[in-house]
Amino acid sequence: MKQVRFWGTRGSLPVALTAAGVRRKVVAALRGASGRSFASDAEIGHYVDSLAFPAAATYGGHTSCVEIETGGPDFMLCDLGSGARPFGLSAMARRAGGAPQTFHVFMSHLHWDHIMGLPFFVPAFIPGNRVVIYGSHLELEAALRRQQEKPSFPVDFSIFGATMEFVHLEPGQPRDVAGVSVTTMLQRHGGDSYGYRFESRGRALVYSTDSEHPLAHAEHTDRFVEFFRDADLVIFDAMYSLADSISVKADWGHSSNVVGVELCQMAGARHLCLFHHEPVFDDDAIEALLAETRRLEEITRVDAPLRISAAYDGLEITL
Ligand SMILES: [Zn+2]
Ligand SMILES: [Zn+2]
Repeated sequence: MKQVRFWGTRGSLPVALTAAGVRRKVVAALRGASGRSFASDAEIGHYVDSLAFPAAATYGGHTSCVEIETGGPDFMLCDLGSGARPFGLSAMARRAGGAPQTFHVFMSHLHWDHIMGLPFFVPAFIPGNRVVIYGSHLELEAALRRQQEKPSFPVDFSIFGATMEFVHLEPGQPRDVAGVSVTTMLQRHGGDSYGYRFESRGRALVYSTDSEHPLAHAEHTDRFVEFFRDADLVIFDAMYSLADSISVKADWGHSSNVVGVELCQMAGARHLCLFHHEPVFDDDAIEALLAETRRLEEITRVDAPLRISAAYDGLEITL
């Protein structure tokens, strides 16, 4: 595994920047530039790069879809949220001479925000391509077919020209896929969800979204600490603040940045990536959550530092 690329990072449903939100960013950027002059586009670029992330960029709005670059010819993907649409177009653009492509897709669960990209996933329409969809839910194939049934969608699942395959993964039993060892684990979430641990050539990546962690439950905590053990990167459901996750939103099936830090520290993980952002959070709110999480990590650090990022559509992390 070489790199992870985020195509969809938002929880529950896609969001877009509004006209008012873009305007606020432009006003702030121009205010910061007042009195300065720029001799070239490159100088303007440097100025823009010096701004805080929310001032010049956005965390983005597609729902869960994460690409894992293995270094081999096959594609690997976690979830088919709306981010699967731009991912699919990118994969098409990377197609060497029109050669067929194989996609290995690992599904955390079958809630809409994690499957809604499939009807718009262009590579699935291309004859010769192969799309292999893995998951631990017994309803995996039925749920994806049902999504495209009348009257919910105009184009039936049978329209896909690619070979569509479904593979059931037994939790706890590692399986080799395209040179990567893949293990799933049951997580606490409405209708169940499954976390994934990917290992290859001494690198370990955990994808754990839509997962609630009852703090007082030692056996649960131990299971996750083992699952996250020494991971190079943990992509973690940090949808809520801790206060929300243990009060009004307890049992809503999601977790917080604070629990992410605790589990990663206990597991000796190296990098925590906050993921599945709450749709009501704007860019400033996510930036504040990231700053708060980094501060928490600093004051609770005992061993090696834990790197912390907040995922955004377009983020690439080298493993
Ligand atoms: Zn979700
Ligand atoms: Zn869910």
